[in-house]
Amino acid sequence: MKEDKSKMPTNIFELEESAIERKSLYEKIINFSEEFIHTIEEQKAFHFDTNEITEYDSFFDIDKKKNSIEDILVFFKERVLNTGLNAASGGHLGYIPGGGIYSSALGDYLAAITNRYAGVFYASPGAVRMEDALINWTGKLIGYDKGFGGNLTSGGSMANLIALHTAKHSKGITISNVSKNVIYFTSQTHHSVYKALKITGLEKCVLREIPVDSHFKMSVIDLETQIKHDKHIGLVPFLIIANAGSTDVGSVDPLINLSDIAKAHHIWLHIDAAYGGFFKLTALGKDKLKGMELADSIILDPHKGLFMPYGLGIVLVKNIKYLAEAHSYNANYMRDAKNDNQYSPADLSPELSKHFRGLRMWLPLKLYGDTVFSEYLNEKLQLAYYLYQELSIIGYKVLCEPDLSVVAFRLELKAYESDVLNKIILDYIHQDGRIFISSTILDNKLTLRAAILSFRTHKQEIDLLLYLLKKIKTHLDV
Ligand SMILES: *Cc1c(COP(=O)(O)O)cnc(C)c1O
Repeated sequence: MKEDKSKMPTNIFELEESAIERKSLYEKIINFSEEFIHTIEEQKAFHFDTNEITEYDSFFDIDKKKNSIEDILVFFKERVLNTGLNAASGGHLGYIPGGGIYSSALGDYLAAITNRYAGVFYASPGAVRMEDALINWTGKLIGYDKGFGGNLTSGGSMANLIALHTAKHSKGITISNVSKNVIYFTSQTHHSVYKALKITGLEKCVLREIPVDSHFKMSVIDLETQIKHDKHIGLVPFLIIANAGSTDVGSVDPLINLSDIAKAHHIWLHIDAAYGGFFKLTALGKDKLKGMELADSIILDPHKGLFMPYGLGIVLVKNIKYLAEAHSYNANYMRDAKNDNQYSPADLSPELSKHFRGLRMWLPLKLYGDTVFSEYLNEKLQLAYYLYQELSIIGYKVLCEPDLSVVAFRLELKAYESDVLNKIILDYIHQDGRIFISSTILDNKLTLRAAILSFRTHKQEIDLLLYLLKKIKTHLDV
């Protein structure tokens, strides 16, 4: 039978709920999130060994069937929230903790409901002005003056990618000269940088890992010697990748010295401040992060240092021209949207359509102002120093005084091989689950690390970690 195409369907209404249906859905979600936040302190920070698949997991699959919001939320709690790492918990001290402030979630809600097109000025001048204001605030915070530009990304990895692509483009690096260009970095460089090198083709450069000093900072003398050597043998020093808060130990490279060297040799200086950048909001951070403004490009992660939910990074480039040139495009169907006096986010990144990310950052900053963020960040610095001191008192070896809020440590007992011993401690903490820490390798040894950055981490959580570490040490040290 032939279908009558002129007959319009009339029964399509389910995706536009009635006010009563909206209220009912909304209340159930709100009740669920209230319960989540109310009980956060009793929830585990980590569910040990929850990777196995259960029968219930077939509920993940999509088919014709309709399900009630109640059933969906029960499943979500059981098979999503009660597995793995609880990144909303104040007990999360692993990797670099995320946050998840409530007002930011509400910003996301509004962004999704109103669904403004934040990629292009013509489509939403307001959304773009909001993003510009956030880039401006962040740029001023790190000390940039005029002429800089940036972009709100999904996170630090995308921000690194955009920055390194911009560096490559501005220095005219192509397939034919790439192998003569040199990139300098250290063992502390984040793996997202290597990914970016791979994607941009810059991994074909000469890659020089510069030694670090006892505080895991790039050795200026070794860098200088290497650059001179490279020039002598006909190579072209191209890019220095510095850390302003490394992931492993939170170390800040000697930014001013690195900038002097970069300037003298016309090298692009990129600073990865994904973790550390927002400590600029504190007095101590201002001092430790001196020289950030000297970078040609820099990245920060509001989903770390500003306690936002995952999905927000920032790339800044000192001269917006380089960022725009590296991403310029032409398309006939975009002609209405071109505006010579105003860059759009889509002119400055690989993304065209994108989540209206500005609102999740702008709403909390407008509601509370920026001072409250410095107070929280100050608390994290103090907690890290407290942990550093207490760890030595209870007999753990701390690798170095923390620059910011990451403390790397291990236990050394004569009766045990070091890596075996520290793995026992790590498993013990994970099995307890109230506090989550992670591990790394430093000086070729398994090393434990606590990164203090969640807005929900306070002295109580640090004391609990110390209590657990003391208890397992007493147990092992017999
Ligand atoms: C977290 C982090 C990154 C990567 O950022 P994502 O937001 O996870 O993509 C890069 N560099 C450093 C120093 C980081 O801490």
